[in-house]
Amino acid sequence: MRVLLIGSGGREHALAWKMAASPLLTKLYAVPGNPGIGREAELVRFDIADHTAVARFCRENEIDLVVVGPEGPLVAGIADDLRAEGIRVFGPSKAAARLEGSKGFTKDLCAKYGVPTAAYGRFGDLASARAYVEKTGAPIVIKADGLAAGKGVTVAMTLDEARTALDVCFDGSFGQAGAEVVVEEFLIGEEASFFCLCDGTTALPFGTAQDHKRLSDGDTGPNTGGMGAYSPAPVMTPEMIDRTMREIVEPTMRGMAETGAPFSGVLFAGLMITDKGPKLIEYNTRFGDPECQVLMMRLKDDLLVLLNAAADGQLAHTSVRWRDDAALTVVMAARGYPGAPEKGSVIRGVEAAAGKGVEIFHAGTAINGGALVANGGRVLNITATGRTVGEAQKKAYAALDRIDWPQGFCRRDIGWLALAREQSK
Ligand code: AMP
Repeated sequence: MRVLLIGSGGREHALAWKMAASPLLTKLYAVPGNPGIGREAELVRFDIADHTAVARFCRENEIDLVVVGPEGPLVAGIADDLRAEGIRVFGPSKAAARLEGSKGFTKDLCAKYGVPTAAYGRFGDLASARAYVEKTGAPIVIKADGLAAGKGVTVAMTLDEARTALDVCFDGSFGQAGAEVVVEEFLIGEEASFFCLCDGTTALPFGTAQDHKRLSDGDTGPNTGGMGAYSPAPVMTPEMIDRTMREIVEPTMRGMAETGAPFSGVLFAGLMITDKGPKLIEYNTRFGDPECQVLMMRLKDDLLVLLNAAADGQLAHTSVRWRDDAALTVVMAARGYPGAPEKGSVIRGVEAAAGKGVEIFHAGTAINGGALVANGGRVLNITATGRTVGEAQKKAYAALDRIDWPQGFCRRDIGWLALAREQSK
């Protein structure tokens, strides 16, 4: 198979690494990729926002499958435009990607199909949103409707914070994404990420994970794209997975099909496990980053076989096997992240730090004058497997400490919640 992978982060490096292990693969291209992905794929450069150019590349290079990593191109309709040209794609249509692209759309679908989620209101103007917030009181959660690069959500513990968050949305800080706002009930519980591969009709459970969104140890500091993750999530017991499938994923799949937008690709449910069971916080319509990195380390089966089955509507006849091992990834970020990360500092010792059960995925790197340099906020994902989360954590930090990059930093407590559970057993 000849495959084109779209994206340039640690998620895409993990996908490239796993696809490269498939006996089905004859050629892998990545656009734009990064130096780590470049070890697994031929990197090509063209504008992925220009879907005609993507289709032309696919025709000229006889691409059998396009795998889309990030949400942006999906929400922009890349899957529809390629399929219209007869090109096979793993990823949802524009209409189905609204599950990520519009929080209001998702909340309305949940209400219609009885999917448990936080109580909410949708508002197109400041005055009515403000009135709802004043009536409901804090804590309360304010969300810009559209994609806001992870910055559109405020968990307001006080009414003042909630008022400020509404002002920020409606003053145009998030552009069109903030023109509509969802205000919702504050949920209490433990968060978990749950993944399914979907083919329009069938959803195949595809692993669980927990991530650390906050910048600093003890889950403090500002929100980031994610500073680390591990899999599986201990809170996602087989019973909880069953309930999530029955109460959340299956009604969503049915709802999307009935709405004329059957969902195919990765359905990533951000869950709050409350004392009443799983509730949906949000959907994403692609793999999480860095959750994908730990899932790929644990996946026993051939990823390309599974992606093909999803693209061809064959998941009902497919199963998936995982290694018993846990996996954990630690993000190394460049000084300044998540604000303005410093670019260009030299990173040494990456190749030597990897080893048995340890992979180092590149997230934001570049080559400059033959040296590996930082080229983004989140730069490397030090990823390891182990019999327990604790063992995976030890291996990941031991590898990380062999990397020579004074301008990089990381959290030192990735996996703490799972570790506390393991230690209390
Ligand atoms: P989201 O971008 O929707 O995943 O939200 C970012 C983070 O905000 C989530 O990972 C949760 O920690 C938190 N959050 C979002 N919605 C709620 C809610 N209704 N109740 C409590 N926390 C929430």
